Amino acid sequence: MKHNLTLAFTVIALIVSVYFYENPYFAFLITGIGIFYFLTIVFGSGLIQLNYFVKSINKGSNKGIAITFDDGPDPEITPKILDILAKENVKASFFVIGHKIEGQKEVLQRIYNEGHTIGNHSFSHTKQLTTTPTSKLKQDITRCSATIENAIKKKPLFFRPPFGITTPRYKKAISALNLKSIGWSIRSLGTKTDDAKALYNSVTKKISDGSILLFHDTQKVAVEVLPEIIQYCKNNGINIVSLPELINEKAYE
Ligand SMILES: [Zn+2]
Repeated sequence: MKHNLTLAFTVIALIVSVYFYENPYFAFLITGIGIFYFLTIVFGSGLIQLNYFVKSINKGSNKGIAITFDDGPDPEITPKILDILAKENVKASFFVIGHKIEGQKEVLQRIYNEGHTIGNHSFSHTKQLTTTPTSKLKQDITRCSATIENAIKKKPLFFRPPFGITTPRYKKAISALNLKSIGWSIRSLGTKTDDAKALYNSVTKKISDGSILLFHDTQKVAVEVLPEIIQYCKNNGINIVSLPELINEKAYE
C-alpha cells in the first residue's frame, strides 16, 4: 500500500536525521520531513485517482466512456437529466445520497426502470464522515444501501466516497461491506462554475477511451451541457456505455 511506503520513508528519514543532531539546520530537516508527511496524507486522502489509501476504479479498461452523476436524486434536475438520457438513448450511473431518497422513491425507481445504474454515495454525505469511526461509517453506508434496496429491490455494489475523500477507515468499511470504490477520471467543473461553455470545453478536451465523467445532478449546468457532450461523443465516434460495461463489474449483488 502506498501509505505504508510513505510511513516507512518518514521513519527512515527521521532515524537518519538523528545523525545530524548537531547540524545547525537540524530543525529545518525535521520540519521538512513533517511537512512532507502531512502533505502526502492531505493529497493522498483528497485525490481519489492516487489510490493512496483505497484502490478505486477511476477509469475503464474497455472502449468508450461512462457518464456518472453524484449527489441526487434531485426532485427538479434528476428528471430533466433522465429526459435527455432517454431522448439520446444513453445509459448513465447515479451515485445517490441516502437521505435524499426519502420522499423521492419514484425518481429512484425511474432511474432504475430506465436502465441506468444506481450506486451508493453514503446516507449522510457529511464531511465529518472522514473522522467518524469505522463502525459509524459502515452504518451510514449500509443505511444508504438499505434505502436503495427498499426502492429498487437491488443491493448496490458500487460506492463513491463523498467528496472523493478516502481514508484508512473507508478502506476498512468498504472491504467489510464488499463494495467497489468508484472514482472518476474527468471531473466536471460543475461544482465551481455555472458556465456551460467552460464546462463543455474542459470536459471534451480530456475525453478518451475509458474515461469516467463526473457530473452533479443537483446543478442546472449539468442539464445545459449534457446534450452537447453527448453530441460531441456521437460526432467523434466515442461510444457512451454504462459504467458496469466500461469497467467489467457487476453493479448489484
Ligand atoms: Zn457528493
